[in-house]
Amino acid sequence: MQQKYAAWGRVKSCIRELTAYGSARKAEIGADKVFDFSIGSPSAPVPAEVWEAMREALKRPDVHEKTPPEGLPALREAVARDLSRRYALDFSAQEIQIVTGAAGGLAVCLNALLSPGSEAVVLAPFFPEYRVFIEGAGGTAAVVPARADMQPELDALREAVGEKTRLVIVNTPNNPTGAILSEESLRGIAEILREASERWGRPVYLISDEPYRELCFDRESIPCVMTAYENTLLCYSFSKSLSLPGERVGYLAVNPALENRDEVLASLRRAAAALGYSAAPSLMQHALVGCVGMTADVSVYRENRDLLYAMLTELGFRCVYPEGAFYLFLKSPVEDAKAFSEAAKKQELLLVPSDDFGVGGYLRLAYCVPTETIRRSRRAFEALAKEFGLGEGDGAC
Ligand code: PLP
Repeated sequence: MQQKYAAWGRVKSCIRELTAYGSARKAEIGADKVFDFSIGSPSAPVPAEVWEAMREALKRPDVHEKTPPEGLPALREAVARDLSRRYALDFSAQEIQIVTGAAGGLAVCLNALLSPGSEAVVLAPFFPEYRVFIEGAGGTAAVVPARADMQPELDALREAVGEKTRLVIVNTPNNPTGAILSEESLRGIAEILREASERWGRPVYLISDEPYRELCFDRESIPCVMTAYENTLLCYSFSKSLSLPGERVGYLAVNPALENRDEVLASLRRAAAALGYSAAPSLMQHALVGCVGMTADVSVYRENRDLLYAMLTELGFRCVYPEGAFYLFLKSPVEDAKAFSEAAKKQELLLVPSDDFGVGGYLRLAYCVPTETIRRSRRAFEALAKEFGLGEGDGAC
């Protein structure tokens, strides 16, 4: 048995434990009495056009045939056209690989680019699976802290990018904070990576994990990582934008100007094969050909964000203002966020302590829940605020 997998098997995931607790508690006292903010599962309706496209795809005689390993040419071409339009870059299907969600894309990228002993830099707070993907690929993770506004600490990044660093992972909009990487942060990251690439005489790649790209509430679009730094690989997923997390489909896109582009593309294809991730589900690939660039009506997340943020800050909780995704990061009123999560459970509020995300002292609330759940949770939050002596007033971080 591989020791690393055996060791991971012994580690408990706070998110999974809390979600399992929530299911048991709902069965015990009724689903309407539990305020479950533990899991980031999209709730916006799947667009009718996607269902129609799935019905049409089912009529194809070849729908159950395995697609080419890197995906259906028509889907790769549609993605290349969409990205060329979005980013004013000249993508061809060659630079696109269809993968099994952003998770599949990340695992493929990291296996292709990391080697034993090499390092990947992650910016805290981060999606806990990054560690698994990095260590699974034989690398180690170096963690760079965030500032209080959840933008990266650039001096710490400069220090962290060393001789062993092969790549840096960014995630915008961010799980768990809802923060969006600013233009200024992106410029800073790009400058640091260009300097490091020159110093080490090889490219230090940037992996941009963007499954929440369309979930951005206060502006038209997020600042573009791909155009800020040429040595970027983009991991995208249809899970959140079209509410299709169970269908396992997304794509990897490589900047057309990427250094060693052809070698990297070949490595990505071979890594996907080695992991058994080639040829994503064919029904979805056929269905999505005509749906690339489409987004579900995600306005419910904005409504929920506004309601939850206003309610919590009014009750005296300190929160990071979430600009995107469907997560809110709440500062624990006590140092031990796990203890605070336990106290919240007593009010039937399920909030994930931030330790698994690489920082202590916060809680993540996934607000992709029915809006009514947020309204009905007010009394429970009021009781929690009272227990911790929070006053009404300014709770913004
Ligand atoms: N990256 C981040 C930041 C996520 O939050 C998730 C899923 O929640 C993923 C990647 C994996 O996405 P997918 O389900 O499309 O594989």
